[in-house]
Amino acid sequence: MTTFNELALDPRVLKAVAEAGYERPTPIQEQAIPHALEGRDVLGIAQTGTGKTASFTLPMITRLSRGRARARMPRSLVLAPTRELAAQVAENFDIYAKYTRLTKALLIGGVAFGEQDKLIDRGVDVLIATPGRLLDHFERGKLLLTGVEVMVVDEADRMLDMGFIPDIERIFKLTPFTRQTFFYSATMPPEIERLTNTFLQAPARVEVARQATASETIEQVLVELKPSRRDRAASEKRKLLRTLIEAEGERLTNAIIFCNRKVDVDILAKALKKERLDAAPIHGDLDQSLRTRTLDSFRAGELKFLIASDVAARGLDVPAVSHVFNFDVPGHPEDYVHRIGRTGRAGRDGKAITLATPAEDKQLAAIETLIQKPLPRGANPLQAPPGPAEDAAEAPEAASPPKPARSRKRSAKPAPAPQPEASTPAPAVPDAAQQPAATAAPPQPTEAAAPAKADTPARKRGGGGRGKGDDRRGAVVGMGDHVPDFLLREFRVS
Ligand code: AMP
Repeated sequence: MTTFNELALDPRVLKAVAEAGYERPTPIQEQAIPHALEGRDVLGIAQTGTGKTASFTLPMITRLSRGRARARMPRSLVLAPTRELAAQVAENFDIYAKYTRLTKALLIGGVAFGEQDKLIDRGVDVLIATPGRLLDHFERGKLLLTGVEVMVVDEADRMLDMGFIPDIERIFKLTPFTRQTFFYSATMPPEIERLTNTFLQAPARVEVARQATASETIEQVLVELKPSRRDRAASEKRKLLRTLIEAEGERLTNAIIFCNRKVDVDILAKALKKERLDAAPIHGDLDQSLRTRTLDSFRAGELKFLIASDVAARGLDVPAVSHVFNFDVPGHPEDYVHRIGRTGRAGRDGKAITLATPAEDKQLAAIETLIQKPLPRGANPLQAPPGPAEDAAEAPEAASPPKPARSRKRSAKPAPAPQPEASTPAPAVPDAAQQPAATAAPPQPTEAAAPAKADTPARKRGGGGRGKGDDRRGAVVGMGDHVPDFLLREFRVS
């Protein structure tokens, strides 16, 4: 197995890495760094938690340590989809570059332009940015990208979800053709493939196993809930969540609780706070300084429950999270993998508990297809398991509690993947290529849809909502052709 010392990195980088306590390169580092140091473009198929940030930062620092920055002309550019991810890359850079004299600037929204302008004017070696903010600076005439020697695109598939691909293409075109490019994505949907074919030159393709298949330290549980009435689903889920949290007792030291929509993040955080749980929300609509504060206190162990949306939490490196809860089953199966990857990191044990109502069956089936196994069913402490007599009598669905066996049967044979929406490119799954691509986009808008441009796939995916007018009778899933009559009966929501 390779050691860092064999990787021909700058000795100052090696010193910083040793101080960070890293003993050996991770697989993505071991594969990517030699190519990067040779000056080749790298296409990295890896997700967060694999050490991918260091896999591009370490060779980048090594390359940039020769030469000097010029005013307004950054020598390298790192693009990340969210502010938090960009800030995280900047933190990593500070650690690895501490013995060099390289300078950096972080350009993210929600922060005043003035300070960022000053840094750029002085000249920076590394510019770390979200695409929108970078283009804002460019359009204000504050920045020239013609001196970029190295460009990194991180989490490209998430950029696609957020509608950033046109921005990325534009930025690529503003940088010199001679640049070296590092391009990272967890999955390779066709749109991303096209981008890499256009802008990367004979890249070295390096790929590491998906986290969900690799991490054996995460215990996954699915708890099914059959709401007594459709309009009570959210409140009954909250009650179930509360009960499950209590049941975990002292094993639960902290948790990230994911919701699909920003509005639900807020509602849940408020509800938990009201019940005196130490909870705070994080999502894209919140003020940047508040997001940073919330995240810092969660990292420092001062905040116990982080209620999060996918975009805000994606890729966050919080080393010790004991639990992840999926308050909603994520609409994109990849997000399930990302979410549960927040726990069980660095060899620690972790538990991921997913709450699901029958309305989420379709999303659940897509996840089970992706991870190629059924999620183990856990008991719902609020709904007694069915007795043998009830089972035999085939009681009407509404009156009977959930039947895990039925779901298991359904899941054991991976469900046929739902047809991708016409406007949504199906994300490819690199190490399950023979699997049907699964894009079970739910009809409600997710946060990913929010920053999307007018005709981006993310935007098209949105649309409906869970409002009163949202008639979902036609969307009953998981029962084959048979829809029991009681489900089609009208009822009034008070
Ligand atoms: P990333 O996938 O870049 O988000 O990295 C995930 C975590 O792994 C970060 O906390 C890094 O500090 C840590 N890390 C990166 N490389 C190594 C390594 N070679 N050994 C141990 N930890 C590492």
